[in-house]
Amino acid sequence: MRKISIFGATGSIGQSTIDLIARAPQDYQVVALSGGKNIAQLAEDAKKLGAQIAVTAEQSLLDDLRLALAGTGIEVAAGRAALLEAADRPCDWAMSAIVGAAGLEPGLRAMQAGAHLALANKESMVCAGPLMLRTARSRGVDLLPVDSEHSAVFQALMGEDISAVERVIITASGGAFRDWPLQELARATPSQAATHPNWDMGQRITIDSASMFNKALELIETKEFFDFKPEQIETVVHPESMIHALVGFNDGGFMAHVGPADMRHAIGFALHHPTRKKLPVERLDLVKLGQFTFRDPCETRWPALRLAREVMQAGGLMGAVFNASKEIALDAFIAEQIGFTDMAAVVEQVLTRLSSHSGHNPDAISLDMVLEADHLARHEAAQVIADLS
Ligand code: NDP
Ligand code: MG
Repeated sequence: MRKISIFGATGSIGQSTIDLIARAPQDYQVVALSGGKNIAQLAEDAKKLGAQIAVTAEQSLLDDLRLALAGTGIEVAAGRAALLEAADRPCDWAMSAIVGAAGLEPGLRAMQAGAHLALANKESMVCAGPLMLRTARSRGVDLLPVDSEHSAVFQALMGEDISAVERVIITASGGAFRDWPLQELARATPSQAATHPNWDMGQRITIDSASMFNKALELIETKEFFDFKPEQIETVVHPESMIHALVGFNDGGFMAHVGPADMRHAIGFALHHPTRKKLPVERLDLVKLGQFTFRDPCETRWPALRLAREVMQAGGLMGAVFNASKEIALDAFIAEQIGFTDMAAVVEQVLTRLSSHSGHNPDAISLDMVLEADHLARHEAAQVIADLS
């Protein structure tokens, strides 16, 4: 039996992970499940999977969780410190699926405690890629990408000579507004942005798909995960979301990864790595699909892509600055304090203000440095937003 923990269990990725685990309960012993506000879901899954401990990140919801799990023998805890303590509990495999930079430390701590880490939380690589890789190396654990594009690149690179790679293309669906007239984007509402044409995901990543901040984070994630140069990394709009990534080699050939728009593929790949096991995902009918199409990722429509390039070139702590300012801009857009197109403007201003956070030696980047840059960027972003409104 493998011991596993799931951080962000109540979210979209967490629930897909639980779907896979619950199909083979005899294979897994669940150590920790974590959630946030959704206590009913957390309690239900903790009971279903017989978890050792259920943790909510929300201190104020401890009593609710305690009540929901009364008499079950499952430990309960709440708050940030409790979440990190749960991540310290040894297990064989952990899923990092908290949304935002809040997911960084639980993932790091799980690896430090010896777990192979399945990483859905792309923000970890964007903010602290060198630290994540260093921790995995020093503990001798696998760091496995779960983001579909990065799982695709990982799979396309298996058995290949990395020095023969010329380019990597990660695909983008284009999100909710790929066909909207440009002049209407400024008036787009949060509920319009939170509708995705192909993928069923959490609210924040769905809005980030419409603005392409999600793809921007993923371009940076690609650089950090695989150590490619920024100029080797591209994106293309592929509205069908069937090809997740293509790796181009120096002999002119591409290895493309094709699969249904179902995160259980990438999650299952990371769960069973290094073997492959049968997964409950749709089998594609290529004739029925008919065609795959591609479009230019226009940087006028999606300025986040241009900003990602600048961040990749700048290096150092600029990924942490980019992500934190994006998180604050997204909060302000969801709260209808700023418009859809203001998000990129806010992030760009913060990147300019904090441009001195670039160029560090990756080996010197510590958790404290990342957290400080994150904190500062949130503060600056809040100021830029206050000046706007
Ligand atoms: P969701 O919003 O659906 O879920 C987020 C999870 O994190 C929930 O369990 C939530 O708890 C918990 N949570 C939220 N805020 C905090 C916090 N401050 N501290 C601790 N826990 C918190 O997100 P997704 O599942 O969509 O995404 C999770 C991660 O995976 C993100 O980094 C995303 O970019 C990445 N990802 C997601 C994909 C997808 O298909 N959804 C695809 C590829 C990557 P609660 O809901 O109980 O409040
Ligand atoms: Mg993705």
